Amino acid sequence: MVGGTVIAGGGLAGAAAATLLARGGLRPLLLERTPGPHDKICGDFVSTEAQAHLAALGFDAGRLGGAPIDRVRLVSGERSAEARLPFTALGLTRRRLDAALLDHAAASGVAVRRGVTVRQIDGTALATSDGNLTPATLLLATGKTDVRGAKRDAAGCLDHLIGFKQYYRPAPVTLATLAGAIEIVLFDGGYAGVQRVEDGMVNLCLLVDRRRFDAAGGDVVGDLVATVPRLARLLGGVPPLLARPLTISGVPYGFVHGDGSRNGDAAFRLGDQAGVIPSFTGDGMAIALHSARLAAGTVLGGGSPAAYHAAFRRDCARQIGRAAALQRVGETRAGQALLVAGIGVVPGLLRWAAAATRVPPAALRRAGLAVA
Ligand SMILES: Cc1cc2nc3c(=O)[nH]c(=O)nc-3n(C[C@H](O)[C@H](O)[C@H](O)COP(=O)(O)OP(=O)(O)OC[C@H]3O[C@@H](n4cnc5c(N)ncnc54)[C@H](O)[C@@H]3O)c2cc1C
Repeated sequence: MVGGTVIAGGGLAGAAAATLLARGGLRPLLLERTPGPHDKICGDFVSTEAQAHLAALGFDAGRLGGAPIDRVRLVSGERSAEARLPFTALGLTRRRLDAALLDHAAASGVAVRRGVTVRQIDGTALATSDGNLTPATLLLATGKTDVRGAKRDAAGCLDHLIGFKQYYRPAPVTLATLAGAIEIVLFDGGYAGVQRVEDGMVNLCLLVDRRRFDAAGGDVVGDLVATVPRLARLLGGVPPLLARPLTISGVPYGFVHGDGSRNGDAAFRLGDQAGVIPSFTGDGMAIALHSARLAAGTVLGGGSPAAYHAAFRRDCARQIGRAAALQRVGETRAGQALLVAGIGVVPGLLRWAAAATRVPPAALRRAGLAVA
């Protein structure tokens, strides 16, 4: 194939951009390497901004049965502080959300090909597991995975943490404790997010540093559930649902892609390929969806990758930088104590931190979304 528009990667960014391009009159081709619905390493916290972006695609995430979340509890040792979030989020598995959004893209006129892996990129030319393509326009939405020939330049980012995710179906008393809340549990060497998702399940998603990883001796999730008092209280003795936890390393937190025209990058980079916000903010999906809307608007308007990347940096770079700075504070024991104490005394601090690390309302409005 020569000409046309190809989207590499069918996560939220890829599926959203493809949907918008199809609605704009193009017939894009989307390539997704997985053959069907799959679990993904993610806290499954769908923020209000992400929901607004999904709604603007004509996609109602609410019908997928997620758990509403309107409070956050920060826990460190025996201390905890709780604050109301300035919005209601949803706890929803990526297995369910991503599959439904890809179906939505196909129903909107996108040619979706699953089970096809992009192996190499040269300009806009692609070598895939299914043959070679040279589209006129390439949108690169492979998330955390870099493709040969188009690696992100993530020097200086916070890439030392190792992520894990597991699901549980705990007793009703634990589900009641977690009703309406996400718990961020801080511990020596990392932090965990615990929240309800659909069907009475609980998501445990955590990040640890190398020292904590080595100390756990192989079973990091089991070790933390046994030794971190809050995790033990919530999930101790509950059998995990995944045969093995999902894991990831080397995520470049704080990464923001530079100017495409300067480094010869001919692709529109979306989602985690454009910028990576620390996970605790729960806004990575919103940023991915925001990038999709900016990129689709630029493509449909005849703009360049460089113009799109500049718009992305204008809307998202500041919050990514703030979140990376907060993550640095939370990685030290003194910083953790300070955070819990500060929020305990001034609950408004948490609302401020939540607002300061999200896609700002002005950017959402500029992108044509109806937000308060
Ligand atoms: C530990 C952790 C917890 C997180 N928790 C949250 C949270 O609670 N809330 C939140 O909003 N964000 C969270 N995030 C961030 C969020 O997961 C990402 O920002 C978001 O998924 C980015 O979307 P994306 O479409 O760019 O990439 P992805 O969702 O990763 O999608 C990329 C897609 O591309 C496909 N792909 C990859 N390589 C290829 C290839 N070579 N060829 C073809 N297809 C390919 C993949 O199979 C995948 O489907 C978390 C991230 C981490 C690491």
